[in-house]
Amino acid sequence: MVDRIKDRVAIVTGASRGIGEAIARQMVAKGGQVVLTARNKSRLDAIVDKLGDAALAVQCDVADREQVKAMVAATIEHFGRVDILVNNAGIGLSGVIADFDLDDLERVFAVNVFGVVACIQAVIPHMRAQNWGHIVNISSILGKRAVPQTAGYAASKFALHALSDGLRVEEAPNNIEVTVICPGSTETDFRENELKSGTILLAERPRVNLKSSDDVAAITLKAIQRRSREIVVSPFGKLFSVLEKTMPSAVDMALKRTYHK
Ligand code: NAP
Repeated sequence: MVDRIKDRVAIVTGASRGIGEAIARQMVAKGGQVVLTARNKSRLDAIVDKLGDAALAVQCDVADREQVKAMVAATIEHFGRVDILVNNAGIGLSGVIADFDLDDLERVFAVNVFGVVACIQAVIPHMRAQNWGHIVNISSILGKRAVPQTAGYAASKFALHALSDGLRVEEAPNNIEVTVICPGSTETDFRENELKSGTILLAERPRVNLKSSDDVAAITLKAIQRRSREIVVSPFGKLFSVLEKTMPSAVDMALKRTYHK
């Protein structure tokens, strides 16, 4: 099997902590060259210091289109090409639809959807020119079925599935693969960092089948090597998505019991 990570150049967004940091670390360990991007430059620098010459830190807010273009230009200048884009940067939103702040929903879409499209548009010309590329979009199990209180965030992740399905077929003649990863609860600072907006039904949302960032990263790297279309990370997530397809009303009922005690 051709190694799709060794000697490849990858951009990982949201690599200053959590899942993105773990993906970047594991890619370098497998012989890849990686550009780590996020807003927090000092965190990126500290990670890159440990990773050595195979890694480069580039500060970039994915919601800012000019910064995205500059980040991809810096990648090309430093490593000469870009083979893999991992769209991992993301923020959450907790609050019911009836009264969450629309500005907060806009911010979530600016990062989770428009930021992803901006990164894709910036790398595609380079991938087309070399007739090789792999784009990985980090969605969520909530991108397959929304649950109460996080439906605004879920909507942004549903959008990633539509974009990925379209992109996969559009770019097939250019030999560009598209993979979607759907993690479930993962041990990161994600919930602490999510926007809290409007009414909260459940202060402590359930965490089922908790995985580590390294677990999700290892599954992501394997998905790249195998050119997987979509991976639901946890066994609970797999069950949840099957139940949603086959018995959506039963899922509604279970969620009503959980969120309206
Ligand atoms: P995290 O620990 O909060 O990390 C989020 C990363 O995104 C950070 O590196 C953050 O860096 C970066 N980021 C946030 N806003 C950004 C922006 N505007 N521009 C560039 N980078 C930005 O969360 P995580 O759990 O690792 O989440 C990674 C991905 O997994 C997200 O897409 C999330 O939706 C998805 N996910 C997480 C879980 C979970 O339970 N943790 C479950 C399913 C899916 P800076 O703050 O330095 O910019």
